Amino acid sequence: NKLLLKVRDLHVAFDTYAGEVKAVRGVNFHVNKGETLAIVGESGCGKSVTAQTIMQLIPMPPGKIKRGSIFFDGNDLLQYSDKKMESVRGKEISMVFQDPMTSLNPTMKVGKQIMEGLIKHQKMSKGEAKQRAIEMLKMVGLPTPEKRAEQYPHEFSGGMRQRAMIAIALACNPKLLIADEPTTALDVTIQAQIIELMKDLQIKLDTAIILITHDLGVVAKISDRIAVMYAGVIVESGTSDEIFYEPKHPYTWGLLKSVPKLNVEEKERLIPIYGTPPDLFSPPEGCPFAARCDYAMEVCKSYYPEKFEITDTHLVHCWLQHEIAPKVEEFVAERG
Ligand code: SF4
Ligand code: MG
Repeated sequence: NKLLLKVRDLHVAFDTYAGEVKAVRGVNFHVNKGETLAIVGESGCGKSVTAQTIMQLIPMPPGKIKRGSIFFDGNDLLQYSDKKMESVRGKEISMVFQDPMTSLNPTMKVGKQIMEGLIKHQKMSKGEAKQRAIEMLKMVGLPTPEKRAEQYPHEFSGGMRQRAMIAIALACNPKLLIADEPTTALDVTIQAQIIELMKDLQIKLDTAIILITHDLGVVAKISDRIAVMYAGVIVESGTSDEIFYEPKHPYTWGLLKSVPKLNVEEKERLIPIYGTPPDLFSPPEGCPFAARCDYAMEVCKSYYPEKFEITDTHLVHCWLQHEIAPKVEEFVAERG
């Protein structure tokens, strides 16, 4: 059995003074053991909320899980008590965030922070935990790990802090690592190194990864499958090859165009997607992308697009796939 995580019909909302924000509106996806799923989308699309709901880290209230299930290794995490969830977090599922400075404890030596989880979850002695902490720092590529273990986070560079976060997250050998924009705060060279590191460690430790990012460029090298999220729903999902080489959703086309390319004239490098996502207080009935879509048809405004299965692995919610929809070339011809 290779299925590790299965999220079904997840709906998450937040109460605010202005009304209810429907942040996640019926999300379905799965992750197999040892594979990497990237969840890609603009900020506010619900990707971080989805991740935090898996970890049960959303504050309730104002957050509320309205519907859905999150099966992890066969059990629904949404049915777990806080105490039981506490034993899953950091041990079975770990998370790394964009800014390690906010998730590392500034007053505790880095080695000690790795040891904490090992003592709590693995019931290691202090001596064993220390040994393992040094091993982990070495594994994430920090030179002189014995010395690094005795230092505080502020003595580390940004890239080193992210490596330390990964060491903490992987110390207990979790089955799933959720990385939320793990490289966004870093410069491009360091970004590539961290992605490379995550990929190496995944092979070594056989950890599944959910990589959450706004940047499709970051995921190319590491993901097996990609889910594209927009306005609280997954609009397209498929293998990396399907998303990069056979994308079917106009929003995915937009994301791909906005991936910076080398060897291309500066002015052509970044093509933004014009417009803004819909308001999630009262999301549109039809396709959430309709207001920004160059191909929007009458049907798109009133009816949420059905799920079209392009292959066993490639799904898209877009009316262009309907057999009676005009072909994309016809739109282009009509516009001249
Ligand atoms: Fe565009 Fe219609 Fe497809 Fe939505 S369903 S992405 S509006 S063509
Ligand atoms: Mg986010």
